This record gives sequence, structure tokens and C-alpha cells, in this order.
Amino acid sequence: MEKILEQLPKKAKDKHNENIKLFKKLKKKPPRHLDSLMVELHDNEFEKTDCLTCGNCCKTTVPWLNDQDVSRIAKHLKLKEQKFIEEYLEVGEDNELSFKSAPCVFLGFDNECSIYNVRPKACREFPHTNRRKFQQISALTLENVAICPAAFNIVEELKKRLPIQYSEKGGKPQEKFRRGGG
Ligand code: SF4
Ligand code: SF4
Repeated sequence: MEKILEQLPKKAKDKHNENIKLFKKLKKKPPRHLDSLMVELHDNEFEKTDCLTCGNCCKTTVPWLNDQDVSRIAKHLKLKEQKFIEEYLEVGEDNELSFKSAPCVFLGFDNECSIYNVRPKACREFPHTNRRKFQQISALTLENVAICPAAFNIVEELKKRLPIQYSEKGGKPQEKFRRGGG
């Protein structure tokens, strides 16, 4: 896994332009079966992915927390919400809340999450590849493919499974070649 994680940012960079084009096409005309296809690709990938050998999301990024996350985790830690916020969270310009730093303080050396059952919604849903209307989270996904090897593989598999018009070379059907003459 270490080698995969080491190579991932370069692999994602190499695919960046191709992925931008893919999402442009998906946004313009999403295929009807996109939601069910994403669930299938996500489930297939996570059947063979052992997140405990990776932990890269928890090591390199900080999740956002909503009000329910704050109250659930504070209760679990037996802290008053305000105390939990002061101790663990950073408050952004628009009052959005995130953990103070990465790697996450709740991440164990064995990549286990010590608050797994009450972890933030953003952690539960990462990398969001089974999200409905997946084409709408393109900016997030373009970042996530450089962080999460499973997300990278899912997007690559998506390209293989979509009809030709979504591929890099696909576009409007070419005009017929006309022979000159009379
Ligand atoms: S709360 Fe748990 S799942 Fe979320 S970033 Fe921290 S260790 Fe990872
Ligand atoms: S969700 Fe992705 S980045 Fe996070 S531990 Fe699993 S494979 Fe690694």
C-alpha cells in the first residue's frame, strides 16, 4: 500500500485533464444509469479495499463536522459541546467546523478510528463515490483521486464502463467523408 500511496499523486496528476473532460461531459449529459453504476463501482472497489492498510484520508485531510456530528462525538467523549469544539475543532470564516489538524487525533497507529461508531458523516461517506448525482461533486472528486486509491480506481473503472461519447476521444459523431466530384 505504501508504494501505491506514494505513486498516487503523480498518477492522479497524469489523469487530471482527462478527468476534467470526463466530468464536463457527465455534467452536460449524465447517463441515466449513473447513480446505480456508481453504487456498483463503489461497492466492487471497497470489497477489495482494506482501508486499515491505508488510512490516507485520515492522515492527510480534515473532515468537516455538522451540528449532529459535534453533539454525537461530544457526548461519546463525555465533554460539553463547547469544550469539545475548543479542544478539537477549528472554526472557519463562515463558522464551518473541522478537526484542527491532520493526521486525525482519533487515528490509531494501526489505522483504526477510536471514535468509529460516532465518526463524522464526512468520514462515513468518504470518498463519496456512491453519492447520487456524482457528476455534481467533480471538484471534490478531482482532489480525492489524488488522496484515495479506491476513488482513483473507481473513476478509472467508470471511464471503461461509460459509452464512447464520454471517453476522451469521444464527441459528436464525425461527419461523413464526402467524395469530391461533379
Ligand atoms: S474521525 Fe476517524 S474516520 Fe474521521 S478522520 Fe478521524 S480517524 Fe479518520
Ligand atoms: S477511504 Fe480511501 S483514502 Fe481512506 S482509508 Fe480507504 S482507501 Fe484509504
